[in-house]
Amino acid sequence: MSLDERALLASVPTGLFIGGEWRLASDNATLSVVDPATGNELLAVADATPADGLAALDAAAAAASDWAATAPRVRGEILRRTFDLLQERADDFALLMSLEMGKPLAEARGEVTYGGEFLRWFSEEAVRISGSFGSNPEGTGTIVVSKRPVGPSFLITPWNFPLAMATRKIAPALAAGCTVVVKPAELTPLTTLLFVTLLQQAGLPAGVVNVITTSSAREVSAPIISDPRLRKLSFTGSTPVGRTLLTQASENILRTSMELGGNAPFVVFEDADLARAIDGAMLAKFRNIGQACTAANRFIVHESIANEFATRITERVAALTVGRGTDGVDIGPLIDDRAVANLTELVADAVAGGATVLTGGVAIDGPGTFFAPTVISGLAADARMLREEIFGPVLGIVTFSTEEEGVALANSTEYGLVGYVFTQDLARAHRMIDLIDTGMMGINTGIVSNAAAPFGGVKQSGVGREGGAEGISEYLETKYSLIPAS
Ligand code: NAD
Repeated sequence: MSLDERALLASVPTGLFIGGEWRLASDNATLSVVDPATGNELLAVADATPADGLAALDAAAAAASDWAATAPRVRGEILRRTFDLLQERADDFALLMSLEMGKPLAEARGEVTYGGEFLRWFSEEAVRISGSFGSNPEGTGTIVVSKRPVGPSFLITPWNFPLAMATRKIAPALAAGCTVVVKPAELTPLTTLLFVTLLQQAGLPAGVVNVITTSSAREVSAPIISDPRLRKLSFTGSTPVGRTLLTQASENILRTSMELGGNAPFVVFEDADLARAIDGAMLAKFRNIGQACTAANRFIVHESIANEFATRITERVAALTVGRGTDGVDIGPLIDDRAVANLTELVADAVAGGATVLTGGVAIDGPGTFFAPTVISGLAADARMLREEIFGPVLGIVTFSTEEEGVALANSTEYGLVGYVFTQDLARAHRMIDLIDTGMMGINTGIVSNAAAPFGGVKQSGVGREGGAEGISEYLETKYSLIPAS
Protein backbone atom coordinates (compact mmCIF):
# COMPACT_ATOMS: atom_id res chain seq x y z
CA MET A 1 0.00 0.00 0.00
CA SER A 2 1.36 3.43 -0.91
CA LEU A 3 1.98 6.24 1.58
CA ASP A 4 -0.85 8.28 0.00
CA GLU A 5 -3.23 5.39 0.47
CA ARG A 6 -2.21 4.95 4.11
CA ALA A 7 -2.63 8.67 4.81
CA LEU A 8 -6.06 8.72 3.20
CA LEU A 9 -7.25 5.67 5.13
CA ALA A 10 -6.01 7.25 8.36
CA SER A 11 -8.37 10.18 7.72
CA VAL A 12 -11.49 8.01 7.35
CA PRO A 13 -13.63 7.84 10.52
CA THR A 14 -14.40 4.26 11.52
CA GLY A 15 -17.24 4.74 14.02
CA LEU A 16 -21.00 4.98 13.79
CA PHE A 17 -22.20 8.53 13.17
CA ILE A 18 -25.20 9.12 15.43
CA GLY A 19 -26.60 12.45 16.59
CA GLY A 20 -23.57 14.33 15.25
CA GLU A 21 -21.04 12.18 17.14
CA TRP A 22 -18.80 9.29 16.27
CA ARG A 23 -19.16 6.26 18.51
CA LEU A 24 -18.16 2.62 18.77
CA ALA A 25 -20.68 -0.16 18.29
CA SER A 26 -22.45 -0.87 21.59
CA ASP A 27 -20.67 -4.24 21.84
CA ASN A 28 -17.39 -2.79 20.47
CA ALA A 29 -17.53 -5.17 17.50
CA THR A 30 -15.91 -4.23 14.20
CA LEU A 31 -16.19 -5.42 10.63
CA SER A 32 -13.30 -5.66 8.23
CA VAL A 33 -13.27 -3.80 4.91
CA VAL A 34 -10.93 -5.35 2.34
CA ASP A 35 -9.30 -4.31 -0.91
CA PRO A 36 -10.79 -6.69 -3.52
CA ALA A 37 -7.62 -6.37 -5.63
CA THR A 38 -5.40 -7.82 -2.90
CA GLY A 39 -7.66 -9.38 -0.28
CA ASN A 40 -5.89 -7.25 2.35
CA GLU A 41 -7.77 -5.38 5.05
CA LEU A 42 -8.07 -1.63 4.47
CA LEU A 43 -9.76 -0.69 7.74
CA ALA A 44 -12.00 -2.15 10.42
CA VAL A 45 -15.17 -0.12 11.06
CA ALA A 46 -17.81 -0.30 13.78
CA ASP A 47 -20.25 -3.19 13.36
CA ALA A 48 -23.60 -1.83 14.55
CA THR A 49 -26.05 -3.85 16.64
CA PRO A 50 -29.85 -3.54 16.36
CA ALA A 51 -29.73 -1.23 19.42
CA ASP A 52 -27.26 1.05 17.57
CA GLY A 53 -29.62 1.12 14.59
CA LEU A 54 -32.48 2.27 16.81
CA ALA A 55 -30.21 4.88 18.44
CA ALA A 56 -29.60 6.27 14.94
CA LEU A 57 -33.35 6.42 14.34
CA ASP A 58 -33.79 8.15 17.74
CA ALA A 59 -31.36 10.84 16.56
CA ALA A 60 -33.09 11.22 13.18
CA ALA A 61 -36.51 11.45 14.83
CA ALA A 62 -35.27 14.02 17.39
CA ALA A 63 -33.85 16.25 14.66
CA ALA A 64 -36.84 15.89 12.29
CA SER A 65 -39.03 18.87 13.21
CA ASP A 66 -36.17 21.40 13.40
CA TRP A 67 -34.80 20.28 10.04
CA ALA A 68 -38.24 20.36 8.42
CA ALA A 69 -38.61 23.94 9.72
CA THR A 70 -35.15 25.00 8.49
CA ALA A 71 -35.46 27.42 5.58
CA PRO A 72 -35.18 25.66 2.21
CA ARG A 73 -32.47 28.16 1.22
CA VAL A 74 -30.41 27.14 4.25
CA ARG A 75 -30.88 23.44 3.47
CA GLY A 76 -29.88 24.09 -0.14
CA GLU A 77 -26.79 26.05 0.86
CA ILE A 78 -25.54 23.24 3.09
CA LEU A 79 -25.85 20.87 0.13
CA ARG A 80 -24.10 23.35 -2.14
CA ARG A 81 -21.22 23.78 0.33
CA THR A 82 -20.95 20.00 0.52
CA PHE A 83 -20.71 19.93 -3.28
CA ASP A 84 -17.87 22.47 -3.17
CA LEU A 85 -16.04 20.53 -0.45
CA LEU A 86 -16.38 17.35 -2.49
CA GLN A 87 -14.74 19.04 -5.47
CA GLU A 88 -11.79 20.00 -3.25
CA ARG A 89 -11.43 16.41 -2.04
CA ALA A 90 -12.24 14.79 -5.41
CA ASP A 91 -8.94 12.91 -5.64
CA ASP A 92 -9.32 11.50 -2.12
CA PHE A 93 -12.82 10.23 -2.80
CA ALA A 94 -11.76 8.71 -6.12
CA LEU A 95 -8.86 6.89 -4.49
CA LEU A 96 -10.99 5.67 -1.58
CA MET A 97 -13.63 4.23 -3.93
CA SER A 98 -10.98 2.57 -6.04
CA LEU A 99 -9.50 0.99 -2.92
CA GLU A 100 -12.67 -0.36 -1.35
CA MET A 101 -14.66 -1.22 -4.48
CA GLY A 102 -11.91 -1.90 -7.01
CA LYS A 103 -13.01 0.38 -9.85
CA PRO A 104 -10.35 1.99 -12.05
CA LEU A 105 -9.25 5.34 -10.68
CA ALA A 106 -10.40 7.25 -13.78
CA GLU A 107 -13.89 5.81 -13.40
CA ALA A 108 -13.86 6.57 -9.68
CA ARG A 109 -13.06 10.18 -10.59
CA GLY A 110 -16.09 10.07 -12.91
CA GLU A 111 -18.23 8.86 -10.03
CA VAL A 112 -17.12 11.82 -7.91
CA THR A 113 -18.43 14.10 -10.67
CA TYR A 114 -21.66 12.13 -11.06
CA GLY A 115 -22.24 11.71 -7.31
CA GLY A 116 -21.46 15.38 -6.70
CA GLU A 117 -24.04 16.49 -9.24
CA PHE A 118 -26.85 15.18 -7.01
CA LEU A 119 -25.67 17.60 -4.30
CA ARG A 120 -25.66 20.51 -6.73
CA TRP A 121 -28.94 19.57 -8.41
CA PHE A 122 -30.88 19.12 -5.16
CA SER A 123 -29.30 22.22 -3.60
CA GLU A 124 -31.15 24.00 -6.42
CA GLU A 125 -34.35 21.95 -6.06
CA ALA A 126 -34.63 22.67 -2.30
CA VAL A 127 -35.98 26.17 -3.04
CA ARG A 128 -38.39 25.04 -5.79
CA ILE A 129 -40.75 22.93 -3.69
CA SER A 130 -44.21 24.20 -4.49
CA GLY A 131 -47.85 23.17 -4.34
CA SER A 132 -50.94 24.57 -6.05
CA PHE A 133 -53.91 26.79 -5.36
CA GLY A 134 -57.28 26.69 -7.12
CA SER A 135 -61.01 26.92 -6.69
CA ASN A 136 -63.21 23.85 -6.47
CA PRO A 137 -65.56 23.10 -9.40
CA GLU A 138 -68.59 24.20 -7.35
CA GLY A 139 -67.01 27.61 -6.88
CA THR A 140 -67.60 27.43 -3.14
CA GLY A 141 -64.09 27.08 -1.82
CA THR A 142 -60.38 27.12 -2.36
CA ILE A 143 -58.25 24.02 -2.80
CA VAL A 144 -54.76 24.43 -1.39
CA VAL A 145 -52.20 21.72 -2.14
CA SER A 146 -48.95 21.95 -0.22
CA LYS A 147 -45.88 19.75 0.22
CA ARG A 148 -44.45 18.50 3.49
CA PRO A 149 -41.32 16.44 4.16
CA VAL A 150 -42.34 12.81 4.46
CA GLY A 151 -40.33 12.41 7.70
CA PRO A 152 -37.45 10.28 8.99
CA SER A 153 -36.13 8.13 6.17
CA PHE A 154 -34.00 4.99 6.07
CA LEU A 155 -31.58 4.85 3.13
CA ILE A 156 -29.91 1.54 2.21
CA THR A 157 -27.22 1.60 -0.48
CA PRO A 158 -25.29 -1.05 -2.50
CA TRP A 159 -21.54 -1.49 -2.88
CA ASN A 160 -21.11 -0.81 -6.60
CA PHE A 161 -21.30 3.02 -6.62
CA PRO A 162 -20.31 3.90 -3.05
CA LEU A 163 -20.62 7.69 -3.43
CA ALA A 164 -23.31 8.24 -6.06
CA MET A 165 -25.84 5.82 -4.58
CA ALA A 166 -25.50 7.66 -1.26
CA THR A 167 -25.73 11.22 -2.61
CA ARG A 168 -28.62 10.24 -4.92
CA LYS A 169 -30.66 9.55 -1.76
CA ILE A 170 -29.17 11.87 0.88
CA ALA A 171 -29.33 15.04 -1.25
CA PRO A 172 -33.05 14.91 -2.17
CA ALA A 173 -34.00 13.78 1.36
CA LEU A 174 -32.17 16.72 2.92
CA ALA A 175 -33.45 19.16 0.31
CA ALA A 176 -37.02 18.05 1.07
CA GLY A 177 -36.50 18.55 4.81
CA CYS A 178 -36.20 14.90 5.88
CA THR A 179 -33.71 13.54 8.39
CA VAL A 180 -32.10 10.19 7.57
CA VAL A 181 -30.40 7.04 8.75
CA VAL A 182 -28.01 5.73 6.09
CA LYS A 183 -26.84 2.13 5.93
CA PRO A 184 -24.07 1.72 3.36
CA ALA A 185 -23.18 -1.74 2.03
CA GLU A 186 -20.87 -3.64 4.39
CA LEU A 187 -18.40 -4.25 1.55
CA THR A 188 -17.83 -0.53 0.81
CA PRO A 189 -18.81 1.65 3.80
CA LEU A 190 -15.70 3.88 3.84
CA THR A 191 -16.82 6.38 1.18
CA THR A 192 -20.04 7.16 3.06
CA LEU A 193 -18.12 7.59 6.33
CA LEU A 194 -15.70 10.06 4.73
CA PHE A 195 -18.58 11.82 2.97
CA VAL A 196 -20.28 12.52 6.31
CA THR A 197 -17.28 14.58 7.37
CA LEU A 198 -18.03 16.93 4.45
CA LEU A 199 -21.65 17.35 5.56
CA GLN A 200 -20.37 18.17 9.06
CA GLN A 201 -17.91 20.70 7.67
CA ALA A 202 -20.69 22.24 5.60
CA GLY A 203 -22.64 22.93 8.81
CA LEU A 204 -25.25 20.16 8.82
CA PRO A 205 -26.95 20.11 12.25
CA ALA A 206 -26.51 17.03 14.48
CA GLY A 207 -28.95 14.19 13.90
CA VAL A 208 -29.99 15.16 10.37
CA VAL A 209 -27.78 12.46 8.83
CA ASN A 210 -26.84 9.36 10.83
CA VAL A 211 -24.74 6.48 9.46
CA ILE A 212 -24.66 2.90 10.67
CA THR A 213 -22.25 0.33 9.27
CA THR A 214 -23.04 -3.29 10.01
CA SER A 215 -22.42 -6.87 8.92
CA SER A 216 -25.94 -7.79 10.13
CA ALA A 217 -28.01 -5.88 7.57
CA ARG A 218 -31.25 -7.76 8.16
CA GLU A 219 -31.12 -7.82 11.97
CA VAL A 220 -30.22 -4.13 12.25
CA SER A 221 -32.63 -2.92 9.53
CA ALA A 222 -35.78 -4.79 10.54
CA PRO A 223 -36.40 -2.92 13.85
CA ILE A 224 -35.83 0.42 12.10
CA ILE A 225 -38.27 -0.47 9.32
CA SER A 226 -40.98 -1.55 11.78
CA ASP A 227 -40.59 1.51 14.03
CA PRO A 228 -43.61 3.85 13.66
CA ARG A 229 -41.33 6.92 13.70
CA LEU A 230 -39.85 5.88 10.36
CA ARG A 231 -41.88 7.14 7.39
CA LYS A 232 -39.84 6.28 4.32
CA LEU A 233 -37.58 3.49 3.08
CA SER A 234 -35.35 4.06 0.06
CA PHE A 235 -33.35 1.07 -1.13
CA THR A 236 -30.92 0.43 -3.96
CA GLY A 237 -29.80 -3.15 -4.38
CA SER A 238 -30.86 -6.52 -5.68
CA THR A 239 -34.43 -7.45 -6.54
CA PRO A 240 -34.72 -10.32 -4.01
CA VAL A 241 -33.66 -8.08 -1.10
CA GLY A 242 -35.95 -5.29 -2.39
CA ARG A 243 -38.87 -7.71 -2.41
CA THR A 244 -38.18 -8.68 1.24
CA LEU A 245 -37.92 -5.04 2.27
CA LEU A 246 -41.20 -4.17 0.53
CA THR A 247 -42.90 -6.89 2.57
CA GLN A 248 -41.40 -5.51 5.78
CA ALA A 249 -42.30 -1.93 4.82
CA SER A 250 -45.92 -2.91 4.17
CA GLU A 251 -46.43 -3.68 7.89
CA ASN A 252 -45.57 -0.07 8.74
CA ILE A 253 -47.25 1.43 5.60
CA LEU A 254 -44.00 3.17 4.60
CA ARG A 255 -43.43 5.24 1.51
CA THR A 256 -40.87 3.24 -0.49
CA SER A 257 -38.45 3.81 -3.35
CA MET A 258 -36.87 0.68 -4.80
CA GLU A 259 -33.98 0.86 -7.29
CA LEU A 260 -33.44 -2.80 -8.04
CA GLY A 261 -31.69 -5.12 -10.47
CA GLY A 262 -31.51 -4.86 -14.24
CA ASN A 263 -31.08 -7.01 -17.34
CA ALA A 264 -30.55 -4.34 -19.97
CA PRO A 265 -30.99 -5.23 -23.65
CA PHE A 266 -28.48 -3.60 -26.03
CA VAL A 267 -30.12 -3.77 -29.46
CA VAL A 268 -28.02 -3.07 -32.56
CA PHE A 269 -30.08 -2.69 -35.74
CA GLU A 270 -28.73 -3.27 -39.24
CA ASP A 271 -28.80 0.49 -39.90
CA ALA A 272 -26.71 1.37 -36.81
CA ASP A 273 -23.48 3.36 -36.99
CA LEU A 274 -21.37 0.35 -36.03
CA ALA A 275 -18.37 2.30 -34.72
CA ARG A 276 -20.71 4.18 -32.42
CA ALA A 277 -22.44 0.98 -31.34
CA ILE A 278 -19.07 -0.61 -30.46
CA ASP A 279 -18.05 2.45 -28.40
CA GLY A 280 -21.44 2.40 -26.69
CA ALA A 281 -21.15 -1.33 -26.00
CA MET A 282 -17.74 -0.92 -24.37
CA LEU A 283 -19.18 1.70 -22.02
CA ALA A 284 -22.49 -0.02 -21.35
CA LYS A 285 -20.82 -3.34 -20.61
CA PHE A 286 -17.40 -2.67 -19.10
CA ARG A 287 -17.90 0.52 -17.07
CA ASN A 288 -17.57 -0.31 -13.37
CA ILE A 289 -16.13 -3.74 -14.29
CA GLY A 290 -19.58 -4.65 -15.59
CA GLN A 291 -20.99 -4.27 -12.08
CA ALA A 292 -23.73 -1.72 -12.73
CA CYS A 293 -27.50 -2.13 -12.61
CA THR A 294 -27.51 -0.31 -15.96
CA ALA A 295 -24.87 -2.63 -17.47
CA ALA A 296 -25.88 -4.01 -20.85
CA ASN A 297 -26.68 -7.65 -20.09
CA ARG A 298 -27.86 -8.97 -23.48
CA PHE A 299 -26.38 -7.89 -26.83
CA ILE A 300 -29.15 -8.38 -29.36
CA VAL A 301 -27.55 -7.80 -32.75
CA HIS A 302 -29.11 -7.96 -36.22
CA GLU A 303 -27.96 -11.12 -38.00
CA SER A 304 -26.61 -9.19 -41.01
CA ILE A 305 -23.98 -7.39 -38.89
CA ALA A 306 -23.52 -9.84 -36.00
CA ASN A 307 -20.24 -11.32 -37.27
CA GLU A 308 -18.68 -7.93 -37.85
CA PHE A 309 -19.92 -6.69 -34.46
CA ALA A 310 -18.49 -9.77 -32.72
CA THR A 311 -15.10 -9.49 -34.46
CA ARG A 312 -14.70 -5.78 -33.76
CA ILE A 313 -15.85 -5.92 -30.14
CA THR A 314 -13.64 -8.95 -29.44
CA GLU A 315 -10.61 -6.98 -30.66
CA ARG A 316 -11.47 -4.15 -28.25
CA VAL A 317 -12.21 -6.45 -25.30
CA ALA A 318 -9.08 -8.54 -25.74
CA ALA A 319 -7.04 -5.33 -25.46
CA LEU A 320 -8.53 -4.30 -22.08
CA THR A 321 -5.98 -4.21 -19.27
CA VAL A 322 -6.84 -5.85 -15.94
CA GLY A 323 -5.39 -5.08 -12.51
CA ARG A 324 -5.73 -3.05 -9.34
CA GLY A 325 -7.90 0.01 -9.97
CA THR A 326 -5.08 2.32 -8.87
CA ASP A 327 -2.71 0.99 -11.56
CA GLY A 328 -4.16 2.78 -14.60
CA VAL A 329 -6.04 -0.31 -15.83
CA ASP A 330 -9.36 -0.60 -17.69
CA ILE A 331 -10.81 -3.38 -15.57
CA GLY A 332 -10.40 -3.87 -11.82
CA PRO A 333 -11.31 -6.85 -9.63
CA LEU A 334 -14.80 -8.18 -9.05
CA ILE A 335 -16.16 -7.37 -5.62
CA ASP A 336 -15.66 -10.84 -4.07
CA ASP A 337 -15.22 -14.60 -4.58
CA ARG A 338 -18.94 -15.16 -4.97
CA ALA A 339 -18.99 -12.84 -7.97
CA VAL A 340 -16.13 -14.77 -9.60
CA ALA A 341 -17.88 -18.10 -8.94
CA ASN A 342 -21.12 -16.74 -10.41
CA LEU A 343 -19.44 -15.61 -13.66
CA THR A 344 -17.61 -18.92 -13.94
CA GLU A 345 -20.95 -20.74 -13.71
CA LEU A 346 -22.70 -18.45 -16.19
CA VAL A 347 -19.93 -18.96 -18.77
CA ALA A 348 -19.95 -22.75 -18.24
CA ASP A 349 -23.72 -22.80 -18.70
CA ALA A 350 -23.47 -20.77 -21.93
CA VAL A 351 -20.77 -23.05 -23.36
CA ALA A 352 -22.75 -26.17 -22.40
CA GLY A 353 -25.63 -24.68 -24.41
CA GLY A 354 -23.45 -24.39 -27.52
CA ALA A 355 -22.07 -20.83 -27.24
CA THR A 356 -18.52 -19.92 -28.29
CA VAL A 357 -16.06 -17.99 -26.11
CA LEU A 358 -14.32 -15.46 -28.40
CA THR A 359 -12.03 -14.05 -25.70
CA GLY A 360 -11.60 -14.45 -21.93
CA GLY A 361 -14.06 -16.76 -20.19
CA VAL A 362 -11.94 -17.58 -17.16
CA ALA A 363 -11.14 -16.32 -13.69
CA ILE A 364 -7.64 -14.91 -13.24
CA ASP A 365 -5.56 -16.36 -10.41
CA GLY A 366 -5.41 -14.27 -7.24
CA PRO A 367 -4.57 -12.58 -5.00
CA GLY A 368 -7.69 -10.54 -5.67
CA THR A 369 -10.92 -11.52 -7.38
CA PHE A 370 -10.33 -10.97 -11.09
CA PHE A 371 -12.18 -12.29 -14.15
CA ALA A 372 -10.90 -11.94 -17.71
CA PRO A 373 -12.98 -9.59 -19.92
CA THR A 374 -15.07 -11.95 -22.02
CA VAL A 375 -17.04 -12.06 -25.28
CA ILE A 376 -19.38 -14.97 -26.02
CA SER A 377 -21.39 -15.46 -29.21
CA GLY A 378 -24.13 -17.86 -30.23
CA LEU A 379 -26.01 -17.93 -26.91
CA ALA A 380 -28.87 -20.42 -26.83
CA ALA A 381 -32.32 -19.02 -26.05
CA ASP A 382 -32.31 -20.66 -22.62
CA ALA A 383 -28.80 -19.50 -21.57
CA ARG A 384 -28.85 -18.37 -17.94
CA MET A 385 -26.97 -15.17 -18.74
CA LEU A 386 -29.92 -14.00 -20.84
CA ARG A 387 -32.22 -14.22 -17.81
CA GLU A 388 -29.93 -13.37 -14.88
CA GLU A 389 -28.00 -10.23 -14.03
CA ILE A 390 -24.39 -10.99 -15.10
CA PHE A 391 -22.78 -8.23 -13.00
CA GLY A 392 -19.30 -8.62 -14.45
CA PRO A 393 -17.19 -8.11 -17.60
CA VAL A 394 -18.90 -10.76 -19.73
CA LEU A 395 -20.55 -9.76 -23.01
CA GLY A 396 -22.93 -12.28 -24.61
CA ILE A 397 -24.38 -11.93 -28.11
CA VAL A 398 -27.65 -13.23 -29.61
CA THR A 399 -28.99 -12.40 -33.06
CA PHE A 400 -32.36 -11.44 -34.54
CA SER A 401 -33.78 -10.96 -38.01
CA THR A 402 -36.88 -8.75 -37.84
CA GLU A 403 -37.63 -5.66 -35.77
CA GLU A 404 -40.50 -7.50 -34.05
CA GLU A 405 -38.15 -10.31 -33.08
CA GLY A 406 -35.57 -7.82 -31.72
CA VAL A 407 -38.22 -6.10 -29.59
CA ALA A 408 -39.58 -9.43 -28.34
CA LEU A 409 -36.07 -10.51 -27.29
CA ALA A 410 -35.45 -7.16 -25.59
CA ASN A 411 -38.66 -7.51 -23.58
CA SER A 412 -38.28 -11.16 -22.66
CA THR A 413 -37.13 -10.46 -19.10
CA GLU A 414 -38.76 -9.82 -15.75
CA TYR A 415 -36.57 -6.71 -15.40
CA GLY A 416 -37.16 -3.27 -16.92
CA LEU A 417 -34.52 -0.77 -15.84
CA VAL A 418 -32.85 0.49 -19.03
CA GLY A 419 -32.59 -0.43 -22.70
CA TYR A 420 -30.03 0.63 -25.29
CA VAL A 421 -30.86 0.93 -28.99
CA PHE A 422 -28.51 1.71 -31.85
CA THR A 423 -30.16 2.80 -35.10
CA GLN A 424 -29.86 5.75 -37.47
CA ASP A 425 -33.56 5.66 -38.29
CA LEU A 426 -35.27 8.37 -36.23
CA ALA A 427 -38.74 6.87 -36.57
CA ARG A 428 -37.45 3.48 -35.45
CA ALA A 429 -35.73 5.10 -32.44
CA HIS A 430 -39.06 6.62 -31.39
CA ARG A 431 -40.84 3.28 -31.90
CA MET A 432 -38.29 1.60 -29.66
CA ILE A 433 -38.89 4.15 -26.89
CA ASP A 434 -42.55 3.11 -26.99
CA LEU A 435 -42.05 -0.61 -27.46
CA ILE A 436 -39.18 -1.49 -25.13
CA ASP A 437 -40.53 -1.94 -21.65
CA THR A 438 -38.04 -0.11 -19.42
CA GLY A 439 -37.91 2.99 -17.23
CA MET A 440 -34.98 4.44 -19.22
CA MET A 441 -33.56 4.28 -22.75
CA GLY A 442 -30.18 5.10 -24.24
CA ILE A 443 -30.58 5.95 -27.94
CA ASN A 444 -27.21 5.61 -29.70
CA THR A 445 -25.45 5.96 -26.34
CA GLY A 446 -24.15 3.47 -23.82
CA ILE A 447 -24.65 5.61 -20.73
CA VAL A 448 -27.79 7.31 -19.41
CA SER A 449 -27.11 8.29 -15.78
CA ASN A 450 -27.60 11.99 -15.12
CA ALA A 451 -28.50 13.84 -11.92
CA ALA A 452 -31.01 16.00 -13.82
CA ALA A 453 -32.97 12.99 -15.12
CA PRO A 454 -35.44 10.64 -13.40
CA PHE A 455 -33.56 7.37 -12.93
CA GLY A 456 -35.54 4.20 -12.25
CA GLY A 457 -37.15 1.07 -13.56
CA VAL A 458 -40.39 -0.79 -14.20
CA LYS A 459 -41.39 -4.43 -13.63
CA GLN A 460 -38.98 -6.21 -11.22
CA SER A 461 -36.47 -3.34 -11.52
CA GLY A 462 -38.31 -1.29 -8.95
CA VAL A 463 -40.62 1.58 -8.11
CA GLY A 464 -39.86 5.28 -7.81
CA ARG A 465 -37.35 7.60 -9.45
CA GLU A 466 -34.11 9.21 -8.26
CA GLY A 467 -32.71 12.42 -9.71
CA GLY A 468 -34.47 15.07 -11.80
CA ALA A 469 -37.54 16.93 -10.61
CA GLU A 470 -39.06 13.58 -9.65
CA GLY A 471 -36.25 12.77 -7.20
CA ILE A 472 -37.31 15.22 -4.51
CA SER A 473 -40.98 14.26 -4.70
CA GLU A 474 -40.05 10.81 -3.35
CA TYR A 475 -39.38 12.59 -0.03
CA LEU A 476 -42.42 14.87 -0.05
CA GLU A 477 -45.96 14.24 1.13
CA THR A 478 -48.83 15.99 -0.64
CA LYS A 479 -51.27 17.73 1.68
CA TYR A 480 -54.61 19.09 0.50
CA SER A 481 -56.67 21.65 2.42
CA LEU A 482 -60.16 22.94 1.60
CA ILE A 483 -61.01 26.49 2.59
CA PRO A 484 -64.74 27.26 2.07
CA ALA A 485 -65.46 30.64 0.47
CA SER A 486 -67.82 31.52 3.26
P1 NAD B 1 -27.84 -6.34 -2.14
O1 NAD B 1 -29.31 -6.37 -2.37
O2 NAD B 1 -27.17 -7.58 -1.74
O3 NAD B 1 -27.49 -5.27 -1.00
C1 NAD B 1 -27.85 -3.92 -1.10
C2 NAD B 1 -27.88 -3.33 0.29
O4 NAD B 1 -28.90 -3.97 1.04
C3 NAD B 1 -26.60 -3.50 1.10
O5 NAD B 1 -26.41 -2.34 1.90
C4 NAD B 1 -26.92 -4.69 1.99
O6 NAD B 1 -26.21 -4.67 3.20
C5 NAD B 1 -28.38 -4.44 2.27
N1 NAD B 1 -29.17 -5.62 2.65
C6 NAD B 1 -29.03 -6.88 2.20
N2 NAD B 1 -29.99 -7.66 2.78
C7 NAD B 1 -30.72 -6.85 3.59
C8 NAD B 1 -31.85 -7.04 4.43
N3 NAD B 1 -32.44 -8.24 4.57
N4 NAD B 1 -32.34 -6.00 5.12
C9 NAD B 1 -31.79 -4.77 4.97
N5 NAD B 1 -30.72 -4.52 4.19
C10 NAD B 1 -30.20 -5.55 3.48
O7 NAD B 1 -27.23 -5.71 -3.46
P2 NAD B 1 -25.68 -5.43 -3.76
O8 NAD B 1 -25.05 -6.73 -4.09
O9 NAD B 1 -25.07 -4.55 -2.74
O10 NAD B 1 -25.80 -4.55 -5.09
C11 NAD B 1 -25.96 -5.09 -6.34
C12 NAD B 1 -27.42 -5.04 -6.78
O11 NAD B 1 -27.87 -3.69 -6.70
C13 NAD B 1 -27.61 -5.45 -8.21
O12 NAD B 1 -28.78 -6.24 -8.32
C14 NAD B 1 -27.81 -4.12 -8.93
O13 NAD B 1 -28.53 -4.20 -10.13
C15 NAD B 1 -28.54 -3.33 -7.90
N6 NAD B 1 -28.38 -1.89 -8.14
C16 NAD B 1 -29.47 -1.21 -8.60
C17 NAD B 1 -29.35 0.15 -8.88
C18 NAD B 1 -30.53 0.91 -9.39
O14 NAD B 1 -30.48 2.13 -9.34
N7 NAD B 1 -31.58 0.29 -9.89
C19 NAD B 1 -28.13 0.79 -8.69
C20 NAD B 1 -27.04 0.07 -8.22
C21 NAD B 1 -27.19 -1.29 -7.95
